[in-house]
Amino acid sequence: MKYPTSQQLFEKAVQYIPGGVNSPVRAFRAVGGTPLFIKSAKGAYIFDEDGNRYIELINSWGPMILGHAHPLVQQAIHKAVEDSFSFGAPTRKEVEMAELICHMVPSVEKVRMVNSGTEACMAAIRLARGYTGRDKIIKFEGCYHGHGDSFLIAAGSGAATMGIPDSPGVTQGTANDTLTAPFNDLNAVEELINANEDNIAAIIVEPVVGNMGCVLPEPGFLEGLRQLCNKHGIVYIFDEVMTGFRLAPGGAQELFNIQPDLTTMGKIIGGGLPVGAYGGKKEIMDCVSPAGKVYQAGTLSGNPIAISAGLATLRYLYEHPEIYQQLEQNTRRITEGIRKALAACQLNFTINQIGSMYSLFFTEKPVKNFSDAKTSDTQLFALYFHEMLKRGVYLAPSQFESLFVSAALSEEDFLHLEQANAEALAVVAERISIMSKR
Ligand SMILES: *Cc1c(COP(=O)(O)O)cnc(C)c1O
Repeated sequence: MKYPTSQQLFEKAVQYIPGGVNSPVRAFRAVGGTPLFIKSAKGAYIFDEDGNRYIELINSWGPMILGHAHPLVQQAIHKAVEDSFSFGAPTRKEVEMAELICHMVPSVEKVRMVNSGTEACMAAIRLARGYTGRDKIIKFEGCYHGHGDSFLIAAGSGAATMGIPDSPGVTQGTANDTLTAPFNDLNAVEELINANEDNIAAIIVEPVVGNMGCVLPEPGFLEGLRQLCNKHGIVYIFDEVMTGFRLAPGGAQELFNIQPDLTTMGKIIGGGLPVGAYGGKKEIMDCVSPAGKVYQAGTLSGNPIAISAGLATLRYLYEHPEIYQQLEQNTRRITEGIRKALAACQLNFTINQIGSMYSLFFTEKPVKNFSDAKTSDTQLFALYFHEMLKRGVYLAPSQFESLFVSAALSEEDFLHLEQANAEALAVVAERISIMSKR
């Protein structure tokens, strides 16, 4: 029997699924072409329905930090399956999971499990509002906190105190309660706070941004937010859905030594299964029902199969902290290869990197916030993306995404990546020189 190709599957998918995908960036709209339909993956490689193999640099947008189908995680899932799949009642594993998270993540004293990063962020905001009795939140332009209504607010512009919904279906009322500031701009945050005296419940931030490409906090920025929150009684929320368990066993807060009041988690926490969590100071977390009055619930929350996969992944990371140096080294090897390739083509594009996250921005401007990121040439990115794909490397199909390096790459893979980058960037340089001659 001949199986359908990615192209054939996509043609059918668009008939039955909006845009043919279950999450928008997967559709390749930003780079053109047909998305690959994935059949399987193992270690550092992903295989599509067309029989091609690719080196993975997305890793399911973060979760597969140990590489695909890691044997320990696989065994944990197999074992859990034998005991049935869902009980809707408490289990031993949930207690072990909660205890381990509180051990690993410095500021977390109590934690509640949910099913996705979106859910964690929505719940954390409700909790901050319930705890403070205030309505408004501050987020940063270009930061993504899932698809909850409160977070789908356009990058601010002049009327920063009056959010504009980024999506139809988000009411003006909801948008009014979300204020936005540029990332790395403490003054803008202070102005928002002063203009909304005693009405800011929370500041939510990706401590290292992954959702406008990889963007690092400037020295003092995260500390400055901590001080502003202390001064004004605002709940400080780190969205560590991406950075949690990735930049250090305890996430960005461990790396930068900053204690947020609440932390949202996702991605790695489920080891590839749908898990999210939010946690933080006891005093705040005890406002969550049934301990307190802020309601939040979930039929499948703490699902035994999902928790087994997450627990196996987190335990591995906890027991092998040396993996973080290895991940950093792996990533530097890749970015150094890119730097060499850029220099060879006399290109001067910006690379942002920290730990196992990096982005190559097709702009010469340093990228410190969303407006900087938007100076990137997305057509050149699309060209680079497809040239890499042709050479067996699977990147995120958008300029505005971080890449995630796993621990599964081999010596051979690094050489392959260096070669692919050299060739793909030479094609990009060629395109630039043709355009400039026109
Ligand atoms: C992915 C992501 C989310 C949303 O998580 P989902 O599991 O996709 O709902 C929230 N915040 C950040 C920082 C993310 O990267």
